[in-house]
Amino acid sequence: TEDILRVHDLSTRYFTQDGQVNAVSNLDLRIERGEVFGIVGESGSGKSVTARSIMDLIEPPGEITGGEIKYRNGEFAETVADEHPNAVNGEFVNLLELPPNVRQSLRGTSFSMIFQDPESSFNPTLTVGEQLAEAVEVQRRASARPRSTRARTQSEEYSLGNFLLSTVLPSQKYITEESRERAIELLELVGIPDPVERADEYPHEYSGGMLQRAMIAQALAGEPDVLVADEPTTALDVTIQAQVLDLLDELQEETGMTILLITHNLGVIARMCDRVGVMYAGEIVERGSLEDVFDEQVHPYTQGLLGSVPDLEGATRRLQPIPGNVPSLLDHEMDDRCYFADRCPKAMEDCLEHPPEFEVPGSDDHEVRCVLAEMEYAESRAVPDDHFSETS
Ligand code: SF4
Ligand code: MG
Repeated sequence: TEDILRVHDLSTRYFTQDGQVNAVSNLDLRIERGEVFGIVGESGSGKSVTARSIMDLIEPPGEITGGEIKYRNGEFAETVADEHPNAVNGEFVNLLELPPNVRQSLRGTSFSMIFQDPESSFNPTLTVGEQLAEAVEVQRRASARPRSTRARTQSEEYSLGNFLLSTVLPSQKYITEESRERAIELLELVGIPDPVERADEYPHEYSGGMLQRAMIAQALAGEPDVLVADEPTTALDVTIQAQVLDLLDELQEETGMTILLITHNLGVIARMCDRVGVMYAGEIVERGSLEDVFDEQVHPYTQGLLGSVPDLEGATRRLQPIPGNVPSLLDHEMDDRCYFADRCPKAMEDCLEHPPEFEVPGSDDHEVRCVLAEMEYAESRAVPDDHFSETS
């Protein structure tokens, strides 16, 4: 397996009247092609901002202030290499080195996102079929001309709050018979019954679960490489939740797409993910395979979160509450210490002297940002006592 995405040292800040909010700080992660990678953490830990940074959906006063988001796509790398040589390294393209219009051309065709609230992804004044057909058409044109500015779809305009614009501009001008047929296929693909009739209905005629499926269909219109799902089932009741997760599972297997799944629900992580990153205060503090993080966790924050969860089998749905609060991310002056120190039952002096680096306590792919991991690593590397007696 190869990495499809490598995020390195990513920082996203919000410049507000109250000061600078460090929503994501020096974040590192890698995602393998075809896997489901989960990001788990409490609310306010920076999960959604991470997803939005990857999707190029950070709006002022937010700004990505540093780092790299490298996407592996050899064909795309070739397309942009001449004009943007700094962005390209082999098959990888650093998206943050691309101008906005080129980056935007990837949205829908390479990266798609689904949200907790499907209503925000549909314009209520147009039928679901019209919006899907339009998405198909816009994506088709964008992939035919990757370097031109891609038009926004009606539902994108709508979700950006451009209500007037989206009702004034008739979307029909984009719709061809072919894209209408593809829209119906997409509805069928996500398990909407009677897709031909349903295509002519308006979003409010759909139930919550159905609209969630339709949003997934919309995200798949451009056959993306990576689907980013931010709390995709949180607003649904348990039965519908399970159905939507099954659907994502099936679609992942059928299409081979990669999924970045953001959730605070450990049951969802345990059920869906191959690898996991645990986020705290804008940083990934522990990452590894599902088994590493659920069964062999080293970071005291992960241990606290998983709390009563004995093992993968018994994963409960809720995160354990941990005493204390997530530190304010407003201008925090904690660059020289572990962000978790105030809440950490194992904190020691070392933890206040320097920010912990990632270390590998066990298997190669399991990494933890905590001095305890550094110690475990040091111990495993220590020269055995009898080494000296033998040589002297
Ligand atoms: Fe706790 Fe120290 Fe590890 Fe931070 S570095 S999680 S304070 S033991
Ligand atoms: Mg969120």
